[in-house]
Amino acid sequence: MALLQISEPGQSAAPHQHRLAAGIDLGTTNSLIATVQSAVPRALPDENGAMLLPSVVRYLADGDIVVGRAAQVAQADDPHNTIVSVKRFMGRSLSDVKEAAALPYHFTDGPGMISISTVAGARSPVQVSADILSNLRRRAEDSLGGPLSGVVITVPAYFDDAQRQATKDAARLANVTVLRLLNEPTAAAIAYGLDKAAEGTFAIYDLGGGTFDISILSLTRGVFEVLSTGGDSALGGDDFDSAIAAWFCSQHAIAGLEALAPRLQRSLLAAARSAKEALSSHETADMRLDGINGHALTATLTRAQFAELGAPLIARTITAARRALRDARLSTAQITGVVLVGGSTRMPIARDAVRDFFGMEPLADLDPDQVVAIGAALQANILVG
Ligand code: ADP
Ligand code: MG
Repeated sequence: MALLQISEPGQSAAPHQHRLAAGIDLGTTNSLIATVQSAVPRALPDENGAMLLPSVVRYLADGDIVVGRAAQVAQADDPHNTIVSVKRFMGRSLSDVKEAAALPYHFTDGPGMISISTVAGARSPVQVSADILSNLRRRAEDSLGGPLSGVVITVPAYFDDAQRQATKDAARLANVTVLRLLNEPTAAAIAYGLDKAAEGTFAIYDLGGGTFDISILSLTRGVFEVLSTGGDSALGGDDFDSAIAAWFCSQHAIAGLEALAPRLQRSLLAAARSAKEALSSHETADMRLDGINGHALTATLTRAQFAELGAPLIARTITAARRALRDARLSTAQITGVVLVGGSTRMPIARDAVRDFFGMEPLADLDPDQVVAIGAALQANILVG
C-alpha cells in the first residue's frame, strides 16, 4: 500500500491514519456531531443531509428504537412512548422535576434517577440519551469510515455533578469514549477562536428551543473560567411559536389554542414555527390552518407584528443577562465580546436586543445551531493530538 494516501470522506481510513475524534452537542431540542477534517471543523450530516438530529426517541413494542425526525413526527400519535427534552431529566429524581404532572409520561422513581415507563419497558434518561448518542456515533463512523476514538460532549455550564455523571454514563452505554465534558458556552467561545486571545470577558447568549442560557466567561492565559450563569429553563423558541399561535387564534375569533382539537393545535404550532423561521429572512410570512369545519384559515404575519408579539419574551432574556452580569460584578462596558448561540438567535429581534443591551455587534458568523458542536470538535481534535 502506498504510504501517501488521499482519503475522501466516506472512504475507509488507512490503518496508520490519525485517530478519529468528534464533538457532540447533546441538546435539549436538537443534537449534532462535528469533526475536524483537514483543519476545518464541520458538522456531519445524516444520510438525508440533515445536520440537526431532533433529540427525540420513540420506543416501540417490538424493541425498535426510532431517533430523530421520524420520532418527532410520531410524537403526536404516541406521546407516552416518544421522549422529548430528556436532557431536563438527566441526573434528576422525580421530586426535582416540577413539571412532571403536566407531561404525558408515566414516571417512576428509579434508583437515583427518574425513570419513564414505555411499551418497551422502563427507560432512564441515561438510556434515552445513550440512544441519541449511539445514533450520532453511527452517523460519524459511517461518514468518516472508521471507529471514533474519542468525543468531547458539551453540557450546560450550570450542570451539577449528578447531571455530568449521567451524561458520562450515557456515553458509556452508547460505546462512546468521552475525552472530556466541555461547558457549552466555552465550546461556543472556542468555535470563535476566542481562546486565541490573551484575555477577555465574554457573554454567551444561547437561546434554543426550550431554554435560555446566558453565561459570562473570563479568559486568562488561554483558560476560560465561568464567572456566572443565568437564564430561564422554561423560555425558548417554543414560546415564540405559542405567541404566534395565540395571535392567529385572535385573528379568527378562536378563544385560544386550547379551544382547538389536539391535532389542530399541533398543526397550528407547526405553522407558527414555520412562520417564525421564515420571518428571520423575509418581511412577511403566510400561515394556513386546514380543517376547521372543512375550510382553511389563513393569516399573514409581518416582521413588525412578530416583533411586538416576541418583545416580552426577548425582554426576559435581557433581564436574565443583566442579572448574570450583576452576579459577575461586571457592567456591559467590561464585556469584550458577545457570542450568539442557539437556533432562536436567528430571529432579528433577538440580535437587535443583544446588540442594544451590550452596545456592540455580537459574533454571529457561524451557524448558531452548530457553534457548540464545532467548538467541541476543535477541542476533541486537540485532545487526540
Ligand atoms: P437546543 O439548544 O434547545 O437543542 P436549538 O439551538 O437547536 O435548540 O434551537 C432550536 C430552536 O431554534 C427552535 O425553536 C427553532 O424554531 C429555532 N430556529 C431554528 N431556525 C430558526 C430561524 N431561522 N428563525 C428563528 N428561529 C429558528
Ligand atoms: Mg443548545
